[in-house]
Amino acid sequence: MSNQVQQQQPPRTANGEVNLNELLQQMTLDEKIAQLIQLAVPFYEGAGEGQITGPMESLGIAEETVHNSGSVLGMAGAQDVINVQTAHLKNNRHGIPLLMMADIVHGFKTIFPVPLAIGCSWDMELAEKSAAVAAKEAAVSGVHVTFAPMVDLVRDPRWGRVVEATGEDPYLNAEFAKAFVRGFQGKDLAGDMDKVAACVKHFAAYGAAEAGRDYNTVDLSDRQMREFYLPAYKAALDEGCEMVMTSFNTVDGIPATGNAKLMRKLLREEWGFDGILISDWGAVKELINHGIAADESEAALKALKAGVDIEMMTACYVKNLAELVERSEVDEALIDEAVLRILMLKQKLGLFENPFRAANPELEREVVFCEEHKEAARALAVKSCVLLKNEGVLPLRSDAKLALIGPFATNGDVLGPWSWTGSKDDAITLEAGMKAKLTADAKLSVAEGCGILEAGTEAQWEQVLAAAQEADIIVLALGEHSDMNGEAASRADIRLPQAQLELVRKVKALNKPIAVVLFNGRPLDLHGVIDEADAILEAWYPGSQAGHAVADLLFGDANPSGRLTMSFPHSVGQVPVYYNAYNTGRPQGAPDAQVRYVSQFIDIPNEPLLPFGFGLSYSDFAYGEAELSADLMTEAAPITVSVTVTNKGNVAGVETVQLYVRDISGEVVRPVKELKDYRQICLQPGERAEVSFVLSEQQLRYYHSDLTHASDSGAFVAFVGPNSKTNTALPFRLVKG
Ligand code: BGC
Repeated sequence: MSNQVQQQQPPRTANGEVNLNELLQQMTLDEKIAQLIQLAVPFYEGAGEGQITGPMESLGIAEETVHNSGSVLGMAGAQDVINVQTAHLKNNRHGIPLLMMADIVHGFKTIFPVPLAIGCSWDMELAEKSAAVAAKEAAVSGVHVTFAPMVDLVRDPRWGRVVEATGEDPYLNAEFAKAFVRGFQGKDLAGDMDKVAACVKHFAAYGAAEAGRDYNTVDLSDRQMREFYLPAYKAALDEGCEMVMTSFNTVDGIPATGNAKLMRKLLREEWGFDGILISDWGAVKELINHGIAADESEAALKALKAGVDIEMMTACYVKNLAELVERSEVDEALIDEAVLRILMLKQKLGLFENPFRAANPELEREVVFCEEHKEAARALAVKSCVLLKNEGVLPLRSDAKLALIGPFATNGDVLGPWSWTGSKDDAITLEAGMKAKLTADAKLSVAEGCGILEAGTEAQWEQVLAAAQEADIIVLALGEHSDMNGEAASRADIRLPQAQLELVRKVKALNKPIAVVLFNGRPLDLHGVIDEADAILEAWYPGSQAGHAVADLLFGDANPSGRLTMSFPHSVGQVPVYYNAYNTGRPQGAPDAQVRYVSQFIDIPNEPLLPFGFGLSYSDFAYGEAELSADLMTEAAPITVSVTVTNKGNVAGVETVQLYVRDISGEVVRPVKELKDYRQICLQPGERAEVSFVLSEQQLRYYHSDLTHASDSGAFVAFVGPNSKTNTALPFRLVKG
């Protein structure tokens, strides 16, 4: 049972703020160390009423530690937060409030498309808006910090967490990182109660796990790290992101959570980051499993020295740091620094004055899942879907006779991973979305056909036949369970589940046009679907408004404009396959008379099935001849790349015009193409627009073998077009003074 502690007001400075340095001095070593542990909700439920012994025993910590701890993981809901904070403050001698942290990744109650889908929108404004809506709903529900954005660069669709990332391109990922941070934190985190602090994750290179197996080894050169993996974390920090989370993986042999080179040297010294660094869940203790610490004491020592301030969900710090200080193995100043950072964020968020911040049960009911937010989610979902194939089937007519078949026809599993604060019951299913579009003469028959994983029964097949009988077009709704994606959900076979491939095969035999809608979280191997379908709309997990957004596109009320930010492979044997790769010294593709030993697979092409930047539209965009303003660039004189684009179709549409560059005489080998810029333009039928990009020397800089970031005089090629396959090569030279 807890005894209420003797309360003491935190010391104040002359201007009335809490004097953090003095507060720190008043704290005992144990009290300080307790600020460094982050525990999950069960530790706080019933805090102060002696009901928390179960979880405490599992970690071997005292109730005292819980009362002095600094932050909570996974707490959301205004009344719960108010209750927990109130109880906590009664038990905390110094009146130090808790920071409430939670994974609010792509929406709170209003769930937006998963980040990979948001990536495909190439729309920074809507991405920012999605984070702003998530922040507003989370803030009023009592959340102070979100564990987002995740900005890990991804190349391997076997990895389940590609769904949480925006794709394979460092430039685009960095732009999204900034947009998300702006959306979460706004311009005035301290004063704006609709905002939450952001925590960029997972530092670093978590997306490069070998074979796409979650948590697996990452081993990259420093150059690869800087060129591809680090820019998005840096961009988030440049945008003012308050926190950083470590990753589970090793980086060059040292687990990221014990990696001083990464955290002290790069993050703190080189990049000047002075916010809080939190470990990922249990990652401090995992230093033991990795094999760089013999026990929890050594794990605590290594993590703290490497720079981790908060230990998430394990107790190596609280059980060992005091003794390590006593033995002079840890300098207490390191602990003080970490505690001060935590106190500073509490102060910035105004928690000493108002420990509940924006938590407000009444307002929560009004704000959360309101119509305006649902509209924003629908708008972004519309922009996130990618039309992968269309042989005249789409858009559907609203008076058509349709059969909607497949395990995702009526399924609310369209929110994707990290939607714990939302509800599948609130999600608009595809059936509901399509029904809302139909005129009185139309017909929509629905049949499941099979489960997501379970083979269809005879009875289910009978229902399919009945539904399909009168239909002119079959819409097949297929995909992956949302828990086939996300953390610890790597797949070695990235095709659709067998049960659904079998359904496609049988439906194909009915000889009717098929439009497939895919709900999934990774680029799939599309064998068994791509040839069988007449149209494919990649919907990803579109979120709460899934059915409406997909129906908007299927029926042509909106025109598909999403563009892939991750390549779709021909088959899993080809991965990782990504557009910004290096050439080999050998020719690519089929052997010829001169060179027999070429760089190729003998059974599939080298190119991905669907490249980065690809996506179809109901409009038909024609590109004119691209031009350069000059074929010589200097540091003082950028060049302009221009192209005219005409909408030759019958409907208005958005085209994403993409600019790529290749450096063909670098000091080190350069990618065959690198995205440098893009422009989204909306053209009416028959409308033409000139798109111009200014390309400057700065955009040609890259990391050299000695890690300097600079450009080289020499030959380059610019490419402009609708996706990364474009081969409109425009040669130019850079001449540096
Ligand atoms: C995940 C993080 C997440 C954390 C807290 C971990 O398992 O890797 O992305 O933020 O849990 O929920």
